[in-house]
Amino acid sequence: MLDTDKITKLRKAPVPPALHLIDGKARAASDDATLPVISPLDGRELTTMARGTASDGEAAIAAARAAFDDGRWSGLAPSARKKILLKWADLIEAHALELAVLGVRNNGTEIGMALKAEPLSAAATIRYYAEAIDKIYGEIAPTAPGTLGLVHREPVGVVGVIVPWNFPLMIGAWKLGPALAAGNTVVLKPAETASLTLRRIADLALEAGIPAGVFNVVLGEGAVVGEAISLSMAVDVIVFTGSGPVGRRLMENAAKSNLKRVYLELGGKSPNIVFADAPDLDEAVKVSANGIFRNSGQVCIAGSRLLVQREIHDAFVQKLQAFSEKMVVGDPLDPATQAGAINSARQLEQNLSFVEQARSGGRQVIGGQRLLEETGGYFMQPTIVTGVEASDPLAQREVFGPVLAVIPFDTEAEAIAIANGTDYGLAAAVWTRDLSRAHRMIAAIRAGVVHVNTYGGSDLSVPLGGVKQSGNGHDKSLHAFDKYLDLKTAWIKL
Ligand code: NAD
Repeated sequence: MLDTDKITKLRKAPVPPALHLIDGKARAASDDATLPVISPLDGRELTTMARGTASDGEAAIAAARAAFDDGRWSGLAPSARKKILLKWADLIEAHALELAVLGVRNNGTEIGMALKAEPLSAAATIRYYAEAIDKIYGEIAPTAPGTLGLVHREPVGVVGVIVPWNFPLMIGAWKLGPALAAGNTVVLKPAETASLTLRRIADLALEAGIPAGVFNVVLGEGAVVGEAISLSMAVDVIVFTGSGPVGRRLMENAAKSNLKRVYLELGGKSPNIVFADAPDLDEAVKVSANGIFRNSGQVCIAGSRLLVQREIHDAFVQKLQAFSEKMVVGDPLDPATQAGAINSARQLEQNLSFVEQARSGGRQVIGGQRLLEETGGYFMQPTIVTGVEASDPLAQREVFGPVLAVIPFDTEAEAIAIANGTDYGLAAAVWTRDLSRAHRMIAAIRAGVVHVNTYGGSDLSVPLGGVKQSGNGHDKSLHAFDKYLDLKTAWIKL
């Protein structure tokens, strides 16, 4: 149960200006410049944050490099790192509501979801990797007698972590947890419009005993701070979640600098495919609506393309409209709200322009309007667009907002062709009673995850990653360690 009195108090709490954390110290930008932090709840300035310069980025990288090279963190026993990380997770959990409300004021996610998906999930993630790190062994290779081939796993070095604004703590922790548990040092660059909670948990990391210089945070713009990280000769690995164009840029910069490894979790245009034999159409309607409209569609795996078999198309759309019109959109700090704010004025504009383009192209739009403009906040109706062609921009490009493209299909083969007909390959879902068909679809759809008779279920123990232009590498599960632990072999003649 959410404590509404506490939320009311926290929503009015002043937010101090956010500064970088470099080598254990809070620092303003080298030229003292700041950026306003605008709350999507009312369009007003919530606070300011340091507007990082390239030299701020370089200072943070130098601190992380020194902290890695002198072994102050990687030289600790894994069980010692574990102890500190567990304390950090406890501190995050102890501050969960405060972090959740701060995060909502910063990025607009509805509070019920934010509490679970942000601080509580971040604490659980950090605990998971802390608990795992003292259970990872090297190997002895089966080589010829008289030789010994040892396979060690060692930290990769300095990790640049660049994350988006939709779930900063959850996505941040998917990377910080295994990177730090493995003994690496980190330079983190949060998104411009969701930096405050990540910056706050960095203070908690210091309080837990993570040594200065091990976890650094540089605030500011991607084009400045992110560039400094991706072009650095001292960063060994970049782990990134965000948009395709920025992912591409990071790879270019890695090629131009030190060939650092670049792991990308990018966008999606995920197909949610409903066959006429779906086991429970009402359940499919509810889950499909939540799969695109919760957090106002600002979810990487959002089921943004609904493929419906023609014989149930009209009935399904009708039910979907009835369900979505009842969804409560508005103040994300009200626990009754089901879809909170759009993260920024720019994102809202982009969402509305996708809808306008579809409307002027002759598609039918249900919803599609800005809401609650009088509050100054950025809110939008859950929007369903029907009559969409598989080649339409709305069916090909990621909106990252509460806009659902509905496409009818007749046969299984047609559904597969439409599902696979984009550059993306992040998530998908299939609704059917036919077990053989479900397995055929799992095999045929090119996506990192295919849900069956549900949308969006997950667990920390299950990896998340995309194929095609949705990315490479995986977050979550023990597989995530592969990005942060290198193999080193020793060959010994006995
Ligand atoms: P974005 O790519 O604009 O920004 C992501 C981060 O990159 C931000 O911190 C930004 O400051 C930084 N950045 C921007 N330009 C940069 C540059 N030149 N060099 C280095 N860093 C730079 O993405 P966004 O708008 O914050 O987030 C939305 C995107 O993230 C969507 O495409 C969404 O699908 C994707 N996403 C993917 C996943 C996943 O797991 N696959 C999860 C969440 C979000």
